[in-house]
Amino acid sequence: MAVYEYRCEDHGTTERALPIGTAQPTTPCPACGGPATRVFTAPRLSLGDPVRRALIDRTERTAHVPDVVDSPGPRPAARSRVPSNPAWSRLPRP
Ligand SMILES: [Zn+2]
Repeated sequence: MAVYEYRCEDHGTTERALPIGTAQPTTPCPACGGPATRVFTAPRLSLGDPVRRALIDRTERTAHVPDVVDSPGPRPAARSRVPSNPAWSRLPRP
C-alpha cells in the first residue's frame, strides 16, 4: 500500500491509501464529492528508521560534497605471502 495525496480546489488535500500503481489521476473529494486531482509528493522516507535515514542523508551528501582529507587513509594490512591453500605451495614461483 502507498499513500497518495489529492487536492480539492475548495477543501484542500486528502490522502488515500491504495495499492502501488493503482492511483487514478482524480478521486472524489470526501467533503464535496467533486474531483480532487492527484498531487505528486516526495516519498515519506523520513518516517523510517532514524539510523537508516541518517545513512541515506550522509550518502547523498558525500556524493555531492565529499569529505576533504589531509592525507590518505591507513594502508591495508599486507597480505600474507603464505598461500592459504596447501596445494598452491607446490606451484612454481617467480
Ligand atoms: Zn471538495
